[in-house]
Amino acid sequence: MDYEAVIGLETHVQLKTKSKMWCGCANEFGAPPNTHVCPVCLGLPGVLPVANDEALRLTALTGLLLHGTLPPRAKFDRKNYFYPDMPKNYQITQYDQPSAMGGYVDFEFADRIARVRVTRAHLEEDVGKNFHFDRNSGVDFNRAGVPLLEIVSEPDLTNADMAYEYLNALKEILIYGCVSDCDMEKGMVRCDVNVSVRPVGTKELGAKIEIKNMNSFSGVRRALAYEIPRQIEVVKNGSKLIQSTRRWDDAAGVTEEMRTKEHAHDYRYFPEPDLMPFAPTDAWRAEVQARVVELPLARKQRFMRDYELPAPDAETFKNDVPLGDYFERIAPQARNPKAVANWVINNLRAQINETGTALAGVKFPSEAILELVSLVDGGRISGKIAQEVFAEMFATGDRPVAIVERKGLAQLSDAGAVEKFCDDVIAAHPGPAADFRAGKTAALNFLKGQVMKLSKGKANPALAGETLERKLKG
Ligand code: ADP
Ligand code: MG
Ligand code: ZN
Repeated sequence: MDYEAVIGLETHVQLKTKSKMWCGCANEFGAPPNTHVCPVCLGLPGVLPVANDEALRLTALTGLLLHGTLPPRAKFDRKNYFYPDMPKNYQITQYDQPSAMGGYVDFEFADRIARVRVTRAHLEEDVGKNFHFDRNSGVDFNRAGVPLLEIVSEPDLTNADMAYEYLNALKEILIYGCVSDCDMEKGMVRCDVNVSVRPVGTKELGAKIEIKNMNSFSGVRRALAYEIPRQIEVVKNGSKLIQSTRRWDDAAGVTEEMRTKEHAHDYRYFPEPDLMPFAPTDAWRAEVQARVVELPLARKQRFMRDYELPAPDAETFKNDVPLGDYFERIAPQARNPKAVANWVINNLRAQINETGTALAGVKFPSEAILELVSLVDGGRISGKIAQEVFAEMFATGDRPVAIVERKGLAQLSDAGAVEKFCDDVIAAHPGPAADFRAGKTAALNFLKGQVMKLSKGKANPALAGETLERKLKG
């Protein structure tokens, strides 16, 4: 019997807010331990939480970006458990009435658009961080109470690579929406990976195994690439899998069991008595709605459709938003947007990277690229000369037409002048000229190259070819 994997992800993302979820402490990574703390986020007795409105807005915005709906009422609950990094001994989260429901993420996978449904997105708080030293341990509470968004997917993923691409797509969306910086190095995105296996063709879900607290997407992919065959092996040997929690040991490349039988009732969820349920007003919703942006995939598809760009160019403009915006400022006026994209990607981006210039610091106005493309397309300068003109534009900020005039770079389309170059070349290279007359057509390319060289790249290449051929045949 063949088995297939079923995967659902719970992704935790730190929100991009100035302050923490329930207090005014800074939401800032990298400060000395326990410098962004106060009685609220240290869980001291007698304090009251006040919900961070921006965190609520970012959660609602995420719901909209994922095509979900915002319920009229959301509430907070206490999830009770005891662990040194959580000083209150409970985490405030949203249990049965989350801030956002449903939706989906569309992303490119295996030459098609895959869709993973989203169950919900809810708001909770991060915990502190434990450090283990030689002789003792410590807790840094700077992260305790940082707003944390949890996005729960439906079990729609079927393999390790697909999970990896889903996570990347989700991250891109959150960055586009300015919901989170999603800086993996700073631990801003972590996820729990739920995976089971079942016989191909069956609908019923197998026992769910949860791999907790993964902090890299490639780690998720590696963990699944190990865990899926492991589970299939177990069931093929006639054993039964039981619902359990495992952890991924990246160095050893294996998952190992942590605990079994963990259920929601173990957490003794109950409504948070210190916070009112949240019922957004129409005005609040409208403000969140106004922050919805075009999604990365939609942008890529639009660039391919509207400007007839090949997929790799559109992908570049999806990944490099300022560069794509630059292109878009001039593309609608372009007769040849593909050529404009080439100049922006291959020349402008290269020069910017080489010289460490910011896009805003580029000396020439963006329309100069349109002018340059017109000069090439109109046969006024060759592609090779255009490279020289571009370098000069970048260095001086001058317009291409002015550079071509000043340096006398215009292509020679004057028949008399081209004829003179051709005569000189034929006289200087009698061998190749004879070869061509004897039927070796390839010799014409050599002679044409000599005309280009002699004219310093300015002869109109088509005209040079025609003239040479006429003279040699005549
Ligand atoms: P819990 O209440 O234990 O957190 P949920 O039913 O809410 O479990 O699901 C948590 C995550 O696990 C979701 O992403 C869901 O899609 C996924 N999931 C649930 N059951 C399975 C299963 N049998 N196999 C794989 N993933 C599953
Ligand atoms: Mg869970
Ligand atoms: Zn605080």
